[in-house]
Amino acid sequence: MKIYDVIIIGGGPTGIALGIELGLHNISTLILEKYPAPLLSPRAQYINARSMEFFMRWGLDDELKASQISSEEFPNQAVWCSKLNGNTYAVSSSNDQLNDDLSPQRSVRLPLWVTEGILRDKLQTFPSVSFLKEYEVINIGLEQDHLIISAKNNSQTINYKATYVVACDGANSITRRQAGIDFKNLTPAKRVISVVFETTDLKKHISVTKGCLFYLLESPISSAIGSINPSHGLWYAQIIYDGDAETIDEIDIDQLMNELTGCTFSKKIINTHFWDMHIQLAEKFSYENRIFLVGDSAHAFVPAGAFGLNTGFGDVVNLGWKLAAVIKKQAQPNLLETYEMERLPVCLRNLEAAQQNADDMTALRKKYNPRDNLEEFAKANIILAKQFTRTLGLTMGYAYFNSPLTHLFDGQSIAPMLKITYQPIAAPGYFLPHIWVSNKQSIYSVLSAINWTLIVSADNCADLIQAWQNKFNQNLSNLKILILEKNSYSCKYILVRPDWHIAYISDELDESYFELCLSNFTK
Ligand SMILES: Cc1cc2nc3c(=O)[nH]c(=O)nc-3n(C[C@H](O)[C@H](O)[C@H](O)COP(=O)(O)OP(=O)(O)OC[C@H]3O[C@@H](n4cnc5c(N)ncnc54)[C@H](O)[C@@H]3O)c2cc1C
Repeated sequence: MKIYDVIIIGGGPTGIALGIELGLHNISTLILEKYPAPLLSPRAQYINARSMEFFMRWGLDDELKASQISSEEFPNQAVWCSKLNGNTYAVSSSNDQLNDDLSPQRSVRLPLWVTEGILRDKLQTFPSVSFLKEYEVINIGLEQDHLIISAKNNSQTINYKATYVVACDGANSITRRQAGIDFKNLTPAKRVISVVFETTDLKKHISVTKGCLFYLLESPISSAIGSINPSHGLWYAQIIYDGDAETIDEIDIDQLMNELTGCTFSKKIINTHFWDMHIQLAEKFSYENRIFLVGDSAHAFVPAGAFGLNTGFGDVVNLGWKLAAVIKKQAQPNLLETYEMERLPVCLRNLEAAQQNADDMTALRKKYNPRDNLEEFAKANIILAKQFTRTLGLTMGYAYFNSPLTHLFDGQSIAPMLKITYQPIAAPGYFLPHIWVSNKQSIYSVLSAINWTLIVSADNCADLIQAWQNKFNQNLSNLKILILEKNSYSCKYILVRPDWHIAYISDELDESYFELCLSNFTK
């Protein structure tokens, strides 16, 4: 039986993205996915600017932009309104905060299955990665040197062997359960009705400000309605339900939609079901450094602020190069321990921010009744709308301070960046800030996605650089040297990891990074 270096369980968005990261390193990888095609589910439509920077790594940013649904009729913004033909209270878009100095990218909105299709097409370009659809993993066995994965295909059970397994199988992860990792509920669950429907009639009833997501605030029932694909008249709604119905069939969804939107419109309900909404976090992100949890298998979000998949892509980019370095024997297996150390605090902070959004929305409805005090209600919604979208400090300013790979400089502040604003900081732990380099290219177009990069913006340093390159090549991997104009960044030398986080900065290229950080993983 072939032994794969890595088996990824689940070919959803994070599973395929991890396949691409491992494919870039030519790692022998198998992805097992239980369904034949991406689910037509109204989730993860909002891809933020940091994730778009990741899509630059994979050469897919232009394709994603070309597939976004925004148009003049459905601009990429959320509208806070009483109902679709009522009052507009606030309009918000996280792109309002972005500019070309902060990122070469903007957030985009597109159906998740389109994103998944683009990722799947790219995956096919990597000969080292195989993707099997309609293979449902039913068991994971841990043996001394490898893992045995049993998957069912057409009532046949087939076994596969791997050195490492990565769980990308979503919030109900069988991998996590079989590894015995607890998934803690950090808040009580709320029941939510999910509806996907088709209508070409609705848009002519909408008189509030144009957008592609609408929070409907007049009804005491919290709900949001959004366009999935305007050209096909495809929409979705998420409605928080605290009634007594035990099954979805007991609820008149057609009528409920008319009440919430304020419009009586013709629609074809395509799918409706209940799901439980709460934040959950795995107690650990790995089992014996051989099974790793990524994406929703590690953390489940409430959909308030679009954190879920965007956080999952951060996991993918963090874990991919580490697995590759250990598999290629360029680093010791203890490098893999830094995955949980670095990602868990970031995920927890994002989970808490999403929950805060959801809680504040509920509290606002309790505090103000729009029928009695419309002005105060509207004002409070403007503040909340900003809170939902002003999160660049969280989504772009996170850093890996508590990591043995990060060589903090003397006196460096490790205070987390404020949630609302992103202040680019070229210091250890942070994602390398974007700058424009030659030909109007972003630094992210010239950074290596597989190797470490030493950014040099200084003169007369050839000997020093050669010494570093030799040291790196003996230890970890090829070091890419990127010579930039003087003063491109605030310091002369920046060592950037393959996931584009900064490991070390200095004006004097000394060997302290090897001695204090890398030697722990390469001896
Ligand atoms: C209403 C809603 C709106 C959302 N909006 C956003 C948003 O705008 N932005 C955002 O970033 N996030 C959003 N999210 C969250 C986002 O959908 C998830 O975080 C994301 O889909 C997680 O990706 P994943 O690959 O980890 O898991 P999933 O998308 O759940 O994929 C898991 C994959 O594993 C497969 N699988 C499961 N079990 C097995 C098995 N035993 N064997 C083989 N295969 C298996 C599944 O078929 C699936 O393909 C939203 C979520 C909801 C509910």
